Amino acid sequence: MQTLQFILSPKEAHEAEQKWRVVKRSVDARQRELKVHLTVLVDEKGKPISLTPSLSQGEGEWRRYEPPKYKDVHNAERQVVIIGAGPAGLFAALTLIEHGIKPIIYERGKEVSERKKDIALLNRNEGLNPESNYCFGEGGAGTFSDGKLFSRSKKRGNMQRVMELFHFFGAPDTVLYEAHAHIGSDKLPTIIKNMRECILSHGGEIHFETKVESLKEVESRKSKVERHATPIILAIGHSAHDTYRMLAAEGVKLETKGFAMGVRAEHPQALINKLMYFKGRNIDISENRYTETIQFVGNASYSLVTQVDGRGVYSFCMCPGGHIVPAGSTADTCVINGMSASHRNSPFANSGIVVQINPEDIPGDDPLRGLEYQEALEREAFKQGAISHQQSAAPAQCLRDFVEGKASKDLPKCSYLPGIVPSRLDQWLPPHIGKRLQQGFRDFDKKYPGFLTNDAVILGVESRSSSAVRIPRDPETLQSVSTPGLYPCGEGAGYAGGITSSALDGINAALKIADLAQ
Ligand SMILES: Cc1cc2nc3c(=O)[nH]c(=O)nc-3n(C[C@H](O)[C@H](O)[C@H](O)COP(=O)(O)OP(=O)(O)OC[C@H]3O[C@@H](n4cnc5c(N)ncnc54)[C@H](O)[C@@H]3O)c2cc1C
Repeated sequence: MQTLQFILSPKEAHEAEQKWRVVKRSVDARQRELKVHLTVLVDEKGKPISLTPSLSQGEGEWRRYEPPKYKDVHNAERQVVIIGAGPAGLFAALTLIEHGIKPIIYERGKEVSERKKDIALLNRNEGLNPESNYCFGEGGAGTFSDGKLFSRSKKRGNMQRVMELFHFFGAPDTVLYEAHAHIGSDKLPTIIKNMRECILSHGGEIHFETKVESLKEVESRKSKVERHATPIILAIGHSAHDTYRMLAAEGVKLETKGFAMGVRAEHPQALINKLMYFKGRNIDISENRYTETIQFVGNASYSLVTQVDGRGVYSFCMCPGGHIVPAGSTADTCVINGMSASHRNSPFANSGIVVQINPEDIPGDDPLRGLEYQEALEREAFKQGAISHQQSAAPAQCLRDFVEGKASKDLPKCSYLPGIVPSRLDQWLPPHIGKRLQQGFRDFDKKYPGFLTNDAVILGVESRSSSAVRIPRDPETLQSVSTPGLYPCGEGAGYAGGITSSALDGINAALKIADLAQ
């Protein structure tokens, strides 16, 4: 099948998408005028192939992928225990079923519809359920995430297959061709529920509200039903600090790895649109070219990076038209993150802005010292934002005030539902983070003049952008170097970051087990 690339205005691209078969789409905001790059299928004469009324996007040969063939594993001879039902655990389970192996999943949190209720309480600042929140529960941290489906890494295997499976379970057609595909936190729960129903109907097991507190206990439980040693896929995500401690106590080898910490910045979305799409040119948001651009390509995002004193300072998990959310899993900490719904249409643009932290920045040799470092700052943020013994708003400061070292009297409106309180982040963030952030924001403002403004606010702390621990594994067998039969995978193992790479890592662990079974 031949393809041709077109570089079009947002409106032209939108019109082309309605009539041609698009296989790739990306927005290019680097030039003075915003352009959309569309790759479309063409016939042997080079003419774009039309969508016919009976063949819309997402149907027929345009969507050429092999649907997965799941086997009945109710009575399968082989079984695998999976700890954690995040993207890594779920994609591992689905892959095992394709290979005729029965997955038995233990998940500490609740199934997605019950989990929603706990998240609603959290958003109203009415208490945290330590087992059911933005990190724990069916679908893992991926369920109420933004659902941006892309990975910086091209190395980890068949990313397109991950997109196809998301599509198969209900994600929109755009995940098949959009360069920066996005699902949205309103759509993800249904996709996760569809995956669960598929796993259960083919004979897999899922045990919710079942926290694994000892690997040895799982091993003794499984040995009653298995003739062979049952492999364990460990897909716990990076927030289960208690589980890391259990693993260390039971002799699983862990090591400290580099991670990143900082704040979440929130700007008015209209300002980010002007900076990114119109290079700060004076444009009124009621003008046609502004409204048309947003209508056809959506709200703008950004990806920023700089180096300050030998460390990277960069934007992370940018959520256009999104919300900042409380993403902690323990009661005395304040951890924040961001998400957006599928339409990305809130008036706010938020992003983590984080500083790279290397293992040598934290004294000592305890492999878990990175976790303790994260927790100390998260507890400090809780204290700084405390409104009672048990409740905390997020400590916040206007962006320019933070950079100039001034107190903020009034904070701008913010999407964070549990509330924000003025705080001197410039004074209590550790200097090696705070000072680098200040310089980082100055650098970003040089690139996009107007970025550094008191119309923006920063909230603390963004501390869980990546895992502070690695569970080393053999690159060939993917098994823990200390514990044969244990397959650490996904974000918590320190080998993936984000939904797609964690899902792929889960697939790879399952394929390794399926191969060994033959
Ligand atoms: C608010 C938010 C927004 C995000 N937005 C994006 C985004 O747009 N794009 C993106 O790529 N990534 C995003 N992420 C990150 C992404 O969600 C994670 O990278 C991904 O979910 C990691 O997958 P995982 O399966 O490795 O771990 P997780 O998704 O963390 O899943 C681990 C699961 O294991 C369970 N578990 C832990 N310990 C135990 C135990 N002892 N016993 C039983 N179960 C246990 C947990 O309850 C959890 O359900 C976001 C994260 C958050 C919090």
